[in-house]
Amino acid sequence: MSSTDTRPTVTVLGGGYSGIKVAKALDDVADVTLVAPADAFTHNSAAWRALVEPEWLDRIFLPYDRLLTRGRFVHDRATAVDGRRVTLASGQVLEPDHLVLATGSGYPFPAKVDERNADTARARFQQAHQELRDAKRVLVIGAGPAGLELAGEIRAFFPDKTVTIVGADSDVMPGPFDQDLRDELRRQLDELGVELRLGTPIRDLPAVPPTTVGDVVVTTAEGEKLTADVWYQAFGVTPATGYLRGDLAAARHPNGLVRVDDQLRVAGAEGVYAVGDITDADRDGIGTASAQADLVAANLRARITGEGEVRSYVPGPMAIAVPLGPDGGAGQLPGLDGVAGAEMIAGLKGKTMLVEPWAALFDAA
Ligand SMILES: Cc1cc2nc3c(=O)[nH]c(=O)nc-3n(C[C@H](O)[C@H](O)[C@H](O)COP(=O)(O)OP(=O)(O)OC[C@H]3O[C@@H](n4cnc5c(N)ncnc54)[C@H](O)[C@@H]3O)c2cc1C
Repeated sequence: MSSTDTRPTVTVLGGGYSGIKVAKALDDVADVTLVAPADAFTHNSAAWRALVEPEWLDRIFLPYDRLLTRGRFVHDRATAVDGRRVTLASGQVLEPDHLVLATGSGYPFPAKVDERNADTARARFQQAHQELRDAKRVLVIGAGPAGLELAGEIRAFFPDKTVTIVGADSDVMPGPFDQDLRDELRRQLDELGVELRLGTPIRDLPAVPPTTVGDVVVTTAEGEKLTADVWYQAFGVTPATGYLRGDLAAARHPNGLVRVDDQLRVAGAEGVYAVGDITDADRDGIGTASAQADLVAANLRARITGEGEVRSYVPGPMAIAVPLGPDGGAGQLPGLDGVAGAEMIAGLKGKTMLVEPWAALFDAA
């Protein structure tokens, strides 16, 4: 035990949805260290809303110094992790009794933002918002849930702008979703006036950087040129696991995901757990990240206190909510026959952006 008191040490790498839940849940029974490269948690599920309506910026950045009562926050990034030995960019080395990897995934700005400070992140959003205001024609590349949600947000808040989504697949939202959901989303996108260019692979990304006004041009595989004033990249989730070394590196699949067992322990390493977007245990998503965090925290608590059972992780049923602006959208929810319609999705996410349950964790004085 490397702590000065009798409590074991737990280090959580990553301050996203899963990391903050594990850290918070163990704050009373362990000596917790949370490591994250930014000074504030970003509720990135509301990122598109903050792009179109920057008043949301006041709600989506939550400073880590209000998360833990006893534990500490280290504003740094892991550069190498071998077993439970963690080397940070600053050169500091941590070797906790239990290590939880919760480093999630990267996604192009503004969906996810990789800035050291919330102030800098806010300024980038404000700049991107102004660029969007200055644009008349918007191109969204990617027809998955993120691309559809972004298109819906822009048309709902700026009905004078044209919005085109270009996607390589023949339908929206490739993946394990009901066809009824795709059909309903396409119907609403049509109603909103979003143009869909599906089955249209493109040769290269535009030369103009995303979120920046310019002469945006993309050439489709068939040689057609699509033009716009601004574009957004709505594809490309990248697991953040490049820091794994030794036996931990051997547990990384070629796609970057980490192999875990039924208790979300990383294969081949004693006392190392992984949760959220980096694991190969389930689909990506906040519900999954949250459920995995709850399980690992409960199992660690049981191990630390000697009370309660250690449990296995069981993936939950499919659940997805795709808002299209504050009043529209559709989803596929457990226990519901058929598609969840606009009213239900607006109530679930579109109006509130689900900020409150996450903000409630940041209650430390
Ligand atoms: C625009 C958008 C909207 C979304 N909306 C929804 C939604 O409505 N519902 C839903 O279920 N899912 C949604 N998702 C997916 C969801 O955001 C992810 O599944 C979720 O963020 C995963 O949580 P996580 O804890 O695994 O990792 P993340 O939230 O990605 O957090 C990872 C953390 O690790 C940190 N980190 C990275 N590298 C290091 C390192 N080397 N050292 C230390 N820390 C590091 C990061 O800075 C960050 O703090 C959305 C995604 C996007 C992009």
